[in-house]
Amino acid sequence: VNVERRALRDAAQRATDDVTSFRRDPRSLATSELGRFNDSGLRNLALRRLFTRVPLAARLLGWLAGRGGDGMSAKVTLLAAEGVYWRTVRSLLSPGEWSGLTQGPVILMYHAIGGARETASRYIIPRERFERQIAWLRARRYRFATLRQVAEERAGGLSPARTVVVTFDDGYRDNAAPLLAQRVPATIFVVTECAGGSNEWDAEGPLRERALLGWDELRALSAAGIEVGGHSSTHPILTSLSPERLEEEIRSSLLNLRRELGPGHYTFAYPHGRFNAQTKQAVEAARGGDNARYTAAACSRGGVNDPAVPQYELRRVEIKGTDSFLSFILMVELGRRTTASQLLRSLLFGE
Ligand SMILES: [Zn+2]
Repeated sequence: VNVERRALRDAAQRATDDVTSFRRDPRSLATSELGRFNDSGLRNLALRRLFTRVPLAARLLGWLAGRGGDGMSAKVTLLAAEGVYWRTVRSLLSPGEWSGLTQGPVILMYHAIGGARETASRYIIPRERFERQIAWLRARRYRFATLRQVAEERAGGLSPARTVVVTFDDGYRDNAAPLLAQRVPATIFVVTECAGGSNEWDAEGPLRERALLGWDELRALSAAGIEVGGHSSTHPILTSLSPERLEEEIRSSLLNLRRELGPGHYTFAYPHGRFNAQTKQAVEAARGGDNARYTAAACSRGGVNDPAVPQYELRRVEIKGTDSFLSFILMVELGRRTTASQLLRSLLFGE
């Protein structure tokens, strides 16, 4: 048996084994290749989608496999083996399982929503633009969820396909009216010591001194289905703190949330998106009494939240206030920051 044929046969066997483990325990996805469909370059991802969706491409793959891949280059063998792996997986799963596995939650990150006369910038999105984006997600039948919901679903297995989580960092007062008007489930991460005050942590920039939601407003949002999560107590760069201050920043944010909003499970977003092993550990270990704890944390690294993405490292795609509508669509569909020209380049040249 030649090397190429063996590679393709092994891929099919690996797929069968991984699906068997998944059936036995869905949590096995955390460590298996099966749980990483989107964790790849854009060109590879496009090929995966092609091989698993387009019958002609699949037939070509079958033909390649059938003739034992004689004379195939190593690179083509690798791509074909990947194709065989995912084709086999798809044939063994139900359509619902397959879409849940390959179309994991995409978490969007916003900051402030601009008023009528404010200019768009990275952190400030004009209200109309935001509303147009939400309308598009609705029209395309994406499912909206809070981060807490997604964290719970992931802990037990798969989230429903095409789930989108709309998140806002810092807790700006301007978030409230548009979110309530749109009736969209969302998650707002608040800087607990600063609630009701303003952004004092930025030395400069358009967000400096911007008003923050107070606890009464946050309680009203929470009652309307908006999740309120933690974003530390004072918005430091967590990775630069001593172990004691790190623990204090996170624990006191959780204590504040419990005191103001009640006991239960909360989610967290790392200030400035910065985290490391110690930060993750501190968030996971924090306890706020009455069973209050952080069950997941989001960073600002882009990507689809495949089952293998760790619960305290959830990927988020930053939506900048200046992004075009086309970029927005690409970012939601692909779960990562990209522009049309970058997408084209990576498809053509594998960059
Ligand atoms: Zn922030």
